Amino acid sequence: MRVIFIGPPGAGKGTQSQRLLRYLGVPHISTGEILRDAVRMHTTEGLLAEKYMNEGHLVPDPIIIKLVGIRMDQADCKVGCLLDGFPRTLGQAQALDSYLQGRGIPLSGVLELRVNEEVLIQRLAGRGRTDDEPAVTRQRFQTYRERTEPLLEYYQERGLLAAINGIGTTDEVFERIKSALDGFQRRAAAARPTDPTKSA
Ligand code: ADP
Repeated sequence: MRVIFIGPPGAGKGTQSQRLLRYLGVPHISTGEILRDAVRMHTTEGLLAEKYMNEGHLVPDPIIIKLVGIRMDQADCKVGCLLDGFPRTLGQAQALDSYLQGRGIPLSGVLELRVNEEVLIQRLAGRGRTDDEPAVTRQRFQTYRERTEPLLEYYQERGLLAAINGIGTTDEVFERIKSALDGFQRRAAAARPTDPTKSA
């Protein structure tokens, strides 16, 4: 399966991603992690990305599209992948579409983890990462609303979006995610051309 996981900062995407990865058995492509590694290793991309990340802004599309392309070309992604934190802009979504179309690879679906903003701010206050300080957090929310929320409509129009209620226990939320994945699988099965050798 090839699944995109979208959600605002603090929605619980990290926790649910870990379970989702075990459940699906696919590699994790987390652009936040890829970028933090690049910063740590002082690569060209890391040096370019660092100031955007520290301010809660998005790293420019060309950098992120390049890094994700390199990762998706690796052999382990043949079975699928969980895209976590990518795409985050319409430009990234379009780049991903052309990447997939060019290789004849389908997208299974898009999970949107939905949590209202008051809850998000409370959760982030207790996390303590360097980009979690209040001013940066506010900027990340604004960036999410302005740049990433338009993607929801983009995928909705393509019939690929499943909105997940992110309020509840970890187990409750994961059950909702599993039902959405079942939906993705049913849609994929319905869309597959029937095999004439197997018809009665
Ligand atoms: P969060 O979801 O909590 O904002 P991430 O770990 O996904 O955190 O991302 C951390 C930072 O890395 C973002 O604030 C942004 O600067 C950068 N980043 C991650 N993914 C992308 C992306 N797809 N496009 C642009 N910037 C990104």
